[in-house]
Amino acid sequence: MTQNFTNNFCSKCGYKLLPIDSLNSQVTHCKKCNFTIYADPKVAAVIIVKKQNQILLVKRSIEPPLGKWSLLSGYVNRGENVESAAIREVKEEVNIDVSITELQGVYSGLSPVVIIVFHAIHTSGVLSVSNEVSDFKWVNNEEIPNLPFVYDKQIIEDYLLISNRN
Ligand SMILES: [Zn+2]
Repeated sequence: MTQNFTNNFCSKCGYKLLPIDSLNSQVTHCKKCNFTIYADPKVAAVIIVKKQNQILLVKRSIEPPLGKWSLLSGYVNRGENVESAAIREVKEEVNIDVSITELQGVYSGLSPVVIIVFHAIHTSGVLSVSNEVSDFKWVNNEEIPNLPFVYDKQIIEDYLLISNRN
């Protein structure tokens, strides 16, 4: 979830797009069509599936980040309810049903992606791998490894703060 979504060429005429000003490369302009393109953020849900003092990590078999342990996550489709997207992503990745228990927070500004983090508990189904995930494991809160995405450090710090409060 680190791609740069800036458009480089006009979708109408194919002419090279130029940033409208030097401070904001996400708004570009086609001189030929006099057409301005706004690069919208992507929205992704991250789901921290909790069990007692543990959370669920998955090893992803697709980019990004191939082969790295990470939190369960996925993009929200346009028009899709965000909570439904979170539940769908968990089902797609590890084949279990979860119930969302809490909204942890929203993380934005460091990448083109806005991340919405939920806590959830496993309600039914048996964990299994999928075409997106080659492995999964429960890790103790004290043993959560460094995770690959730009917001992960903050997400885990906040999660641990909340967990220690409860
Ligand atoms: Zn154009």
